[in-house]
Amino acid sequence: MADYQIRRCERQLEGGIHPETQKALSTTDSCIFVGDPKRLVFPIHFSGGGPGEALVAVADIVSQGTPIIKCQSGITHVASRAGKVIDIIDHEIAHPAATKSASIIIEPSGLEDQNYLDPLVWPFDADTLRNRAIEAGILGLGGAGFPSFKKWSEGMQTLIINGAECQPYLTTDDTLMRIDTHSMIRGASMLSQSLDIKTIIIGIEDNKPEVLEAIESALKESCSDCFFDVVLLDTKYPSGSERHLVWLTLGIEVPTGSHAVESGVIVHNPGTLAALSRAIDGKPITDRIVTLTGEALAAPQNIVVPIGAPISHLIEATDTNPESLTSITIGGPMMGYSVTNFTAGITKTTNCLLAREVDIPPESPCIRCGACATVCPVRLQPQQMVFALKGGSLDRAIHEGLTDCIECAACNAVCPSHIPLAEWFRLGRFEARDKANDQRLAAKARERFEARNMRLKRISLEKEAKRAVRQAKTADALEKARKARKESA
Ligand code: SF4
Ligand code: SF4
Repeated sequence: MADYQIRRCERQLEGGIHPETQKALSTTDSCIFVGDPKRLVFPIHFSGGGPGEALVAVADIVSQGTPIIKCQSGITHVASRAGKVIDIIDHEIAHPAATKSASIIIEPSGLEDQNYLDPLVWPFDADTLRNRAIEAGILGLGGAGFPSFKKWSEGMQTLIINGAECQPYLTTDDTLMRIDTHSMIRGASMLSQSLDIKTIIIGIEDNKPEVLEAIESALKESCSDCFFDVVLLDTKYPSGSERHLVWLTLGIEVPTGSHAVESGVIVHNPGTLAALSRAIDGKPITDRIVTLTGEALAAPQNIVVPIGAPISHLIEATDTNPESLTSITIGGPMMGYSVTNFTAGITKTTNCLLAREVDIPPESPCIRCGACATVCPVRLQPQQMVFALKGGSLDRAIHEGLTDCIECAACNAVCPSHIPLAEWFRLGRFEARDKANDQRLAAKARERFEARNMRLKRISLEKEAKRAVRQAKTADALEKARKARKESA
């Protein structure tokens, strides 16, 4: 049995909201496996882990697990099913930054043809695990898609499993923590032991009693050397935001502009750790759990589906005709984005498809009620930031704290004037990043220019010095010759 404790979190989230959770809609005891679609779509640059390059060509035959994309970050994505590469074309994608991108299209063969990695044998070091995560395509499965291995530096003190899943409607993590608890615990233990981390915190909201039961029973059966601190959080949105979870569970304030790892804390989604456990056994990520939910679906539920399956294939799994829907929200009602083309393939970061008809009331002027500031978990003044952005002053919005905004949309949920505050902040933060990139590029160009000037100056000084030496030698030789002529005369 692993050493563990279960405790209530003694800290309170500042701000935040209590939206209708709507989780019962998709929560079922089990999770169904969906059959293979006719084709799988893998965006080369938008599958998670940054821009990539195709490792396969049209007409190639691939096994389940054959590497097909290599990202700049090193992350490898594999074919989720055996089949044939039938095209590499610009295709619709499900991503907030683009609608189309170069994609690999695979037609599944239905064969049980697998190309997995060799299992790792314990004990192994952190470098071995990092390489395995790269080969198996392990990313943050909570939606961010950050390459997990980049968080695994030496000197980390705590691993937090982020099981809060505080967004309404989503039950992906809830399902995983109930049905694949052992994999999650094993992945967390092996990662921690390879990094010499002694404490693993599991943060879950207190509206998940079945998850708590599953975790406790898995810990009783585990032989992990780590100490597990299971923390029950008040059910309040957004307690699962990384910075807030670190503060709620550990009391550590992650400074603005930095990440939890800089405070010695690794935060991972439960699905990421379960995938890591399978990767240790040799299986790269080929499938994931997706919550299909919303009042517009005939049978909301959680399903296990191959990466690359088109959105329409998932919608059909809920006995719903995709043509009856005009759009679908990927990622949940608070932080998700809307897509209208259902031929796009799901990626490793697709955790939820939400289908519901929402009447968005027209926006009216701000009445300065201050409700948005009251619920902001980062203590910002959203109304000030939106005034600045609407007035075209990005600098003023940044001065008001735009770069601290976590885009949680709690402010949207309470605004009586229905101002799409979070959408403004998403756009503003995007522009701020662009501007920062421009500034970085300008600084690099200036550095290069100054370095070139220094180099030219150094070359000129060296030439000058050589010339002076030559002149001195010549003068010396002339002087000697003059003296010799005098002596001989
Ligand atoms: S979206 Fe930004 S401004 Fe609005 S509540 Fe969340 S953190 Fe605050
Ligand atoms: S909640 Fe809406 S109306 Fe009230 S201050 Fe904020 S932006 Fe203005």
